[in-house]
Amino acid sequence: MSYRGRFAPSPTGLLHAGSLVAAVGSWLCARHAGGQWLVRMEDIDPPREVPGSATAILAALPAFGLVADKPVVYQSSRIAAYDAAFEQLRGAGLVFPCWCSRSDLATVGGIHRDGRCMAHPDPQRKPAWRIRAPDETIRFIDELQGPQQQRLRENVGDFVIRRVEGFYSYQLACVVDDAWQGITQVVRGSDLLDSTPRQIWLQRCLGLPTPRYLHLPLVLDGEGRKLSKSERSREVDPSDPMPGLRRALAFLGIITAETAIHPSDLLDAALRHFDPRRLTQCSDHRAA
Ligand code: GLU
Repeated sequence: MSYRGRFAPSPTGLLHAGSLVAAVGSWLCARHAGGQWLVRMEDIDPPREVPGSATAILAALPAFGLVADKPVVYQSSRIAAYDAAFEQLRGAGLVFPCWCSRSDLATVGGIHRDGRCMAHPDPQRKPAWRIRAPDETIRFIDELQGPQQQRLRENVGDFVIRRVEGFYSYQLACVVDDAWQGITQVVRGSDLLDSTPRQIWLQRCLGLPTPRYLHLPLVLDGEGRKLSKSERSREVDPSDPMPGLRRALAFLGIITAETAIHPSDLLDAALRHFDPRRLTQCSDHRAA
């Protein structure tokens, strides 16, 4: 199967230095492999959405020279596929409705491990739906971070795949769409490293293939905290793309030609020097 990568931003703010690193890193891996690079807008969490940010992110990417090979997929248009995956899991008896409140969970350290709801069913309230976590260690090799493992029930527990409000979780939507879009390698920030075992478990339950994974180092702020779109931290400026793009490339350990004037020339020069095996080994880095 030929290589397909993707960048999958959530519209919770403008593109920032961290998300630009994920976009550039995934683009370089795709182009290096001679494959396709897709963009997916993960707009399935309306309460967290910042109006206008999906449009702004999608307008910023080409300004940085990052042009997708296919039309953007909006997760908000994919609900029927998530319904079908949910029904498949429900039909297989793998999910259960759950009325547990935050305070119910607080009594068990915040992790739901029973495989069934610990509260009483409450017909007055809609439940969340959780998938039962197996008592298994999920292992995978991250192509930058090395071998990873997580005891799913112990460390994560039964996790929500459909929220009380009816919204599907990131984990379910991501797994359904990575498979549907034929993604062969997921390149993203290492803040999502600990989501990957949940996603691998969902792939197994749904009979979907597991792509390769490469989690990039996280860009941290001056205090060593993860940059977050919602904090409006370190937004990159698409009207003056070269400095942000140079910083993103330098962060990935790629020294670029000073002569490039346009973002796409800079990316092409970066690609000539790019070798995914030589990506900066991960201890998290601070923003320059
Ligand atoms: N939408 C997620 C985010 O913006 C990234 C999802 C992914 O790459 O799997 O953090």
